[in-house]
Amino acid sequence: MTFEALGLNTSIIKALTDAGYTKPTPVQEQAVPAAIAGKDLLVSSQTGSGKTAAFMLPSLHRLSALEPAAGGKTHNQEMQAARARGERPRFKPAQPKMLVLTPTRELALQVTTNTDKYSVNLRRLKAVSILGGMPYPKQMQLLAKNPEILVATPGRLIDHMESGKIDFSQLEILVLDEADRMLDMGFIDDIEKIVAATPASRQTMLFSATLDGVVGNMARRITKDPQIIQIMTAANKHENITQRVHFVDDLSHKNRLLDHLLRDEALDQAVVFTATKRDADTIADRLNIAGFSAAALHGDMHQGARNRTLESLRRGHVKILIATDVAARGIDVPNITHVFNYDLPKFPEDYVHRIGRTGRAGRNGLAISLVNHAEGMNVKRIERFTKQLIPVNVIEGYEPKKTSFPPRSSSRPGGWKPGDNRNGAKPGQRSFSKPGAPRKEGGYKGSNPRSSEGAARRSYGDR
Ligand code: AMP
Repeated sequence: MTFEALGLNTSIIKALTDAGYTKPTPVQEQAVPAAIAGKDLLVSSQTGSGKTAAFMLPSLHRLSALEPAAGGKTHNQEMQAARARGERPRFKPAQPKMLVLTPTRELALQVTTNTDKYSVNLRRLKAVSILGGMPYPKQMQLLAKNPEILVATPGRLIDHMESGKIDFSQLEILVLDEADRMLDMGFIDDIEKIVAATPASRQTMLFSATLDGVVGNMARRITKDPQIIQIMTAANKHENITQRVHFVDDLSHKNRLLDHLLRDEALDQAVVFTATKRDADTIADRLNIAGFSAAALHGDMHQGARNRTLESLRRGHVKILIATDVAARGIDVPNITHVFNYDLPKFPEDYVHRIGRTGRAGRNGLAISLVNHAEGMNVKRIERFTKQLIPVNVIEGYEPKKTSFPPRSSSRPGGWKPGDNRNGAKPGQRSFSKPGAPRKEGGYKGSNPRSSEGAARRSYGDR
């Protein structure tokens, strides 16, 4: 498949060639023709799949075919012309044709940078970022240019809407990028308000890691007869992450085993997931006393403290993060080589999300779950969800008294048998390739197994 075959115009294709893109990624193959045809899209795909171009290329194609604004003047030029005529210039709000909403400033800037790259030969189309933390006067200048494309975080955009600086009556295309993260960050009301200010005739494209649960409900409300595209990349499937289960007899055994595993010389940085905030704090304290550089991260901490902890993790000052699910969503630190489930998550989706904190940026990772004999059912549900068996491993000197879940007859994924050790690993043996080694495969393949539990799932929360 080529970019030409997707129906993009030659100015865009030239920009892509100059950017070194030789062929579309799978999400682009599916999304671009549908979006050029004006369809609404619900796309489940992750950062790294080429999702920005998947919505931006067809949008640029469509916007470049629209008639230029009357007179072809920016608001600044109109105001200058009025002054030259001796008239008092009339303030006019910006009237963008396209809006991209993103959860974070970083993502908004990345989208704007990519847009500039793809639209380099479309001089009439201008994209600007409207972000929290940016000085207002600077943003007013950007809006006065009446840019066709706004890339914004929801909070700051609402400020400008409420002060009459932006008018969405001419909007043609609305994109919600990383919609699941925006909802996790509590932007639901802002998003509803923004969507309500746009014309019903708009084209809507929603991109999200998951289309289940709350995101799915919102997606259905704001789109019309959407085309659903689900892309499962190797990274989603976590083929680059080695998974293990270690049996533990009791808490003291679990703590001793964790301490041992954290001393693995292949470990660069690690996240240890706990079920409760209290455990996160207690384990962080215990590990610090034991000489590790550890910190807790959970929903009881103020945003400032959470940001500081994450920054220390990113800079490598914190080696081991002890976290609950709510706080760890979205952590993207390439040096995280290990993830530990000190407690198993309640929902299989959380397991997939947790282990995805390692194996970032094309590296390998190791995910270890410390489980007791009674947790067979939970492991089985995870295996069903991921369609992968999780091998059991035993370490010499840390052998559990019981090395299996209660007997099951099935040998399907999740069908545990006594003594089952499905990777053939012997006690103490490891088959984990060193973290940081490049991943072998590089393709995008497969389809997406979806959980029926997703819909019934509670929103992320600390216990
Ligand atoms: P994204 O998923 O949008 O964050 O994109 C991930 C990275 O892939 C970005 O650095 C893009 O510049 C790059 N990219 C997107 N599409 C293509 C493509 N068709 N060929 C090569 N690189 C791409």
